[in-house]
Amino acid sequence: MIVLKFGGTSVGSSSAIRRVGSIIQERLEKQPFVVVSAVGGVTDRLFELRDLCLEKQAWEDSFASLCGIHRTILEELELDVQLVDGLLEELKGLLGELAAAGECTPRMLDHLVSFGERMSSRLVAGHLQTLGIESCAVDAFDAGLVTDGRFQRARPLDDVNSRIQEACRSLTGVVVATGYIARDEEGNITTLGRGGSDYTASIFGAALGSEEIQIWTDVDGVMTADPRIVENARPLATLSFEEAAELAFYGARVIHPATMIPAVDKDIPIRVLNTHRPDFPGTLILADLAEDARGVKSITSKSHVSVVNVVAPRMLDQYGFLARVADVFSRFEVVVDIIATSEVSIAFTTQGGGRLDSAIDELKEFCRVDVYHDREQISVVGEDIRDRIGFASEVFDVLGELKVNVELISFGATRINLSFLVGEGQAADVVRGLHKRLFES
Ligand code: ASP
Ligand code: MG
Repeated sequence: MIVLKFGGTSVGSSSAIRRVGSIIQERLEKQPFVVVSAVGGVTDRLFELRDLCLEKQAWEDSFASLCGIHRTILEELELDVQLVDGLLEELKGLLGELAAAGECTPRMLDHLVSFGERMSSRLVAGHLQTLGIESCAVDAFDAGLVTDGRFQRARPLDDVNSRIQEACRSLTGVVVATGYIARDEEGNITTLGRGGSDYTASIFGAALGSEEIQIWTDVDGVMTADPRIVENARPLATLSFEEAAELAFYGARVIHPATMIPAVDKDIPIRVLNTHRPDFPGTLILADLAEDARGVKSITSKSHVSVVNVVAPRMLDQYGFLARVADVFSRFEVVVDIIATSEVSIAFTTQGGGRLDSAIDELKEFCRVDVYHDREQISVVGEDIRDRIGFASEVFDVLGELKVNVELISFGATRINLSFLVGEGQAADVVRGLHKRLFES
């Protein structure tokens, strides 16, 4: 069998869903299991609805337009326009409750944002049925996807594979499952984090023994750089799991970073494909690369990175300081990214998450802390770049030519990643300069 995941733009309109329908139809002999994102923009809108409710502003118009988006697609696909009315009613009731209560707990938020995928899966399954394909929409939590109770960033339980196998045994025809959402053992709806539908696909792929996990999107695959920044960016034929995970974590938006975890476990290749060009091979992500497919692959960047500089009062020859600082970050669930140390200080980068402000307050009780926000981080990723003589100097040469100052560097922690920080607004030029040097000459 094979898992096919379609992102928000791929199910974003009736014509997009028709394309999805023919892609599935052409692969029926592979026994597809389908995972879908919410209709493009719908999850964002659900978050906006939460804000409107909490700010005591009118939410009814925005809700009405959400209904309109889904009903228009249903109408254009010649499906029953009332197909998702039950879900829309439930959503409306929840919004009323939020507005009245004036609060939205993490649990309520995951319930709220679950409606996007629950509706899109009905649209896609409905369309497959009109094509004469036996199909059913299934909420991932009814297909065995049970997670811990960490709302907004839930992770599957250790025995998720057997739960999925058990729950899916009785399903027939093409299953169209919701991406992104799951439930915990108490039955509360949880989510895997923004962009989590890719992760859902690979969880199901690993549990069901998929021969390949296909992530269908609207670009030709993972690219050498973000094509919105670099005009000459080009798709990559292959990537290793490790490269893909680094690229995803460091800002490439095509695939969710956790997607690689279940795939690595079961050694299942992931392929990133373009719904507009279904015959293009896209990017194949696999465990081992051929010798000639190693080397520098892609340049990514991300903004709004914070640097936390921690200076110990009298740290000379002290031990245990790093552990103390790390303990604070772990208790406040701050995800630490790059670390650089000197005799008396430690610099960390983070993209927030967790409770950074509270962590900093506690650090200030025993050391001096300086925080710099809105730095931009650039990562150059590729198997074995650490071992290539002259590689780092080539990169920093480009920065010198651009007269860009580097604030923090991480190199050597893995064989495959060189990351550094630059000031606000500088990343795009640096990415273009590096792309020219590393890929266009
Ligand atoms: N719909 C969710 C989001 O927008 C999950 C996904 O698309 O992967 O984040
Ligand atoms: Mg996505």
